[in-house]
Amino acid sequence: MKVIVDQDKCIGCGNCEELCPAVFHVDETIGKALVIDAEACEFAACCEAAEENCPQDAISL
Ligand code: SF4
Repeated sequence: MKVIVDQDKCIGCGNCEELCPAVFHVDETIGKALVIDAEACEFAACCEAAEENCPQDAISL
C-alpha cells in the first residue's frame, strides 16, 4: 500500500502516530509526520484509522 503524508497540510498533531506507530512518526525537528514503514499497513490494519482521524486530511492511502 502506498501511504502519503501531505507535508503542506500536516500540523504534527500526532494522531496518526498514536493510532498507528508502526507506520507514522512525528519528527519533532520539522513538526510533521513521516511515513516510516508503509509496508506495515498491510498487517497493522491501523492506516485507515489514521487517515480518518487526521484533522488536516493530510494522509492518502
Ligand atoms: S494526524 Fe494528520 S496532521 Fe496529525 S500528525 Fe498525522 S498527518 Fe499530521
